[in-house]
Amino acid sequence: MARIVVLGGAESGVGAAVLAKVKGFDVFLSDNGKIKDEYLKTLQEWDIPFEQGGHTPERILNADEVVKSPGIPGTAPMVKALREQGTHIISEIEFAARYDSAKKICVTGSNGKTTTTSLIYHLLREAGLDAGLGGNIGKSYALQVATEKHDYYVLEISSFQLDDAYDFRPDIAIITNITPDHLDRYDHKVENYARAKFRITRNLRPEDCFIFDSDDAITIAQLGEIVVKAKMLPFTQEKEVAQGAFLRDDRIIVRYEDEQTEIFLQDLALGGKHNIYNSMAAALAAKATGISDEVIRASLKSFSPIEHRLEPVLSIRDVLYINDSKATNIDSAWYALECQTRPVVWIVGGTDKGNDYSVLDKLVREKVKAIVCLGVDNTKIHAAFEEIVGADNIVDTLSAEEAVRASAAFAAPGDVVLLSPCCASFDLFKNYEDRGCQFKEAVRHL
Ligand code: ADP
Repeated sequence: MARIVVLGGAESGVGAAVLAKVKGFDVFLSDNGKIKDEYLKTLQEWDIPFEQGGHTPERILNADEVVKSPGIPGTAPMVKALREQGTHIISEIEFAARYDSAKKICVTGSNGKTTTTSLIYHLLREAGLDAGLGGNIGKSYALQVATEKHDYYVLEISSFQLDDAYDFRPDIAIITNITPDHLDRYDHKVENYARAKFRITRNLRPEDCFIFDSDDAITIAQLGEIVVKAKMLPFTQEKEVAQGAFLRDDRIIVRYEDEQTEIFLQDLALGGKHNIYNSMAAALAAKATGISDEVIRASLKSFSPIEHRLEPVLSIRDVLYINDSKATNIDSAWYALECQTRPVVWIVGGTDKGNDYSVLDKLVREKVKAIVCLGVDNTKIHAAFEEIVGADNIVDTLSAEEAVRASAAFAAPGDVVLLSPCCASFDLFKNYEDRGCQFKEAVRHL
């Protein structure tokens, strides 16, 4: 019996282990840290041998193949040891796709993955298609392949999952955009990061589709370096295209093969320039799946905002509180500010990943009346914006509650309080979800 060892015992690792078990492999799962209770339960339910709190080399180095969780870097000692002895290391999506013949729509990119993936899933479901939603969202792809059966999968895929994919092939591949993020895992080189994302296109065939942002300079530069053997479907807000999606006046035009679909911007459920891009990508994927124009228009209208992504929380004394806690980099905060039409009290800060705040100068000048820093070290934010908003209009806070109270004091009727931190949350919160939830809780208690 071939032996599969899974490294990492969270969503994707446990999913892969269950699938390996179902397929009759001798499975072993090893996690260097502590495995969460819900995953321990699954491992026990499926009778899968595992260890936690360390790796036992003898139980790992004898693997025929290893499935590595995306959270484990390629530089981890156990991964290096496996590579040195020539053991094949793959990612969960690579493993799962071997046992799945469903059509796959796969979304990667720097920003907008979850939104675009969820939009497409909503479109497919509204069209009455049997689809699974997975990857970085919800249940892992591998677990679904092991325990469910679908005609379609809509998968959100990180570049870490793509790093160890070889034969994995989507039917429709989407790169939402490429902006420098997570560069630490790619030798601080944008080219390496872009190349990692483009691995999603490597096995595409002429009948498959590649949907991409042709306004994105890094994407376009990378397309100049490689050949993608698929139907090319760009989306853009800058010019008209013969195939793909673009803007004309008050509507999106989608051109796919010899059909043309029009979608009014005012009918999009999600506001903001960035969501026009996401809606374009989703509409193109839907067209390529054969979904009717009526369903596309109705679904883009009926979609409800996702938690922590420009999520309206409450309006109190005509001040609208918006939770965009998921905005953990400059680019996403840029779009959040860009789409505001009312004066903004901006809550920003956290663990800075090497941000260059100067790209936000213009938007802050135009839209932001006060800044509430929410982080342990706010020096860079002060340095960047104190002069623009004025020293009296910038304060430091150390909790969501304090930040909300400070924001309420700055805000006047007609304003917006926007939590769009451009930073990770680990200095004060467990993760971005925790930050968003504490923010919402504090707003409700105002
Ligand atoms: P991801 O899954 O790639 O992290 P999300 O859809 O969760 O992306 O959105 C993350 C953040 O980025 C949110 O704050 C959202 O407002 C912003 N955002 C969403 N779509 C885009 C886009 N196309 N370009 C830039 N920022 C975006």
